[in-house]
Amino acid sequence: MRAAVLFGPNDLRVVDKPVPEPGPGEVLVKVAMCGTCGTDLKLQTHPFPNQPPFGQFTPGHEWSGTVAKLGDTVDELAIGDRVAIEAHHGCGRCENCVLGMYTACLNYGNLAKGHRASGMTADGGFAEYAVHHVSSLYRLPNSLTWEDAVLVTTAGTSLYGLDAIGGYVAGQSVVVIGPGPVGLMTVQACKALGASPVVLVGTRRGRLALGARLGADCVIDATTSDAVSSVRGVTGGFGADLVIEASGAMPAPQQAVEMVKRGGKILFLGFYPGPVTLDLSSAIRDDVTLYTTRGEGANAVKRALSLAAQGKIRGRELVTHHFPLEAIQEGFRVVRERDGDPIKVVFVP
Ligand SMILES: [Zn+2]
Ligand SMILES: [Zn+2]
Repeated sequence: MRAAVLFGPNDLRVVDKPVPEPGPGEVLVKVAMCGTCGTDLKLQTHPFPNQPPFGQFTPGHEWSGTVAKLGDTVDELAIGDRVAIEAHHGCGRCENCVLGMYTACLNYGNLAKGHRASGMTADGGFAEYAVHHVSSLYRLPNSLTWEDAVLVTTAGTSLYGLDAIGGYVAGQSVVVIGPGPVGLMTVQACKALGASPVVLVGTRRGRLALGARLGADCVIDATTSDAVSSVRGVTGGFGADLVIEASGAMPAPQQAVEMVKRGGKILFLGFYPGPVTLDLSSAIRDDVTLYTTRGEGANAVKRALSLAAQGKIRGRELVTHHFPLEAIQEGFRVVRERDGDPIKVVFVP
């Protein structure tokens, strides 16, 4: 098969590679589409812990496709089924996995013990075929496209975070900082769960306009207005019940502290380029609770898929660029240089 392999920092090339064999409990999927995200840029320059070595590793953790072959004991799916994925399959035997926190598996990266983070600690979807555990695959409803399936993995991150903060956001004011794919899916998830108003803060006009089309009640362009005072303006002067930081921008954590209501909550979903600074004392004085979650645990992708099938979250509108897999270098150039203001760039093998 053809597959992208990371040969060194930012040296991703499409080469021939054997089609992987599904082991017991695993499924071979013919990849239809694989999305890119900021993590793909980071792991190309600074390999993640437990990432397979240069010269072997195929990244890509937001893929979807058609079941091509079933490993031993798999009867949950049939050949020809269209599937969406979640990137993480926990070991299933550690304390965290038993509790549904499989993105925090205590055997993270240990393939021999059964953990697999597709496209991070094991080969992923920038290839014609990929193997994943059956527990991480979900049958895709006919009404959803491959593009929707790619964004369902992203929406799993939003829903897992909302689960962690308590989930009962109906009638609450929510600010989402960062109109990237995670932020745009989070806006829709908050609306679907009844939050009001949902405010989106960002710096890129096209993305903010898309956020408004996807249901944000109010968008704030931080390049033309002061984001903190604007948020206070639309929340009766008190700040928001919940601030969700999805930008990964260095000043955003401090802005979140200044935007949240006394007694409110802040949820961090982004990764930062380095250690961040925020006035933690002010958060403590104001009885603010800080949460972090990683990726899509607790069956959140299954629930995201349900919301997508109900038409309550929309994924395909975020996909701005399609590239053939063979053009992976050009595709990642577009992502890296933000050429044409891409939101979600996908590859088609
Ligand atoms: Zn990602
Ligand atoms: Zn585990």
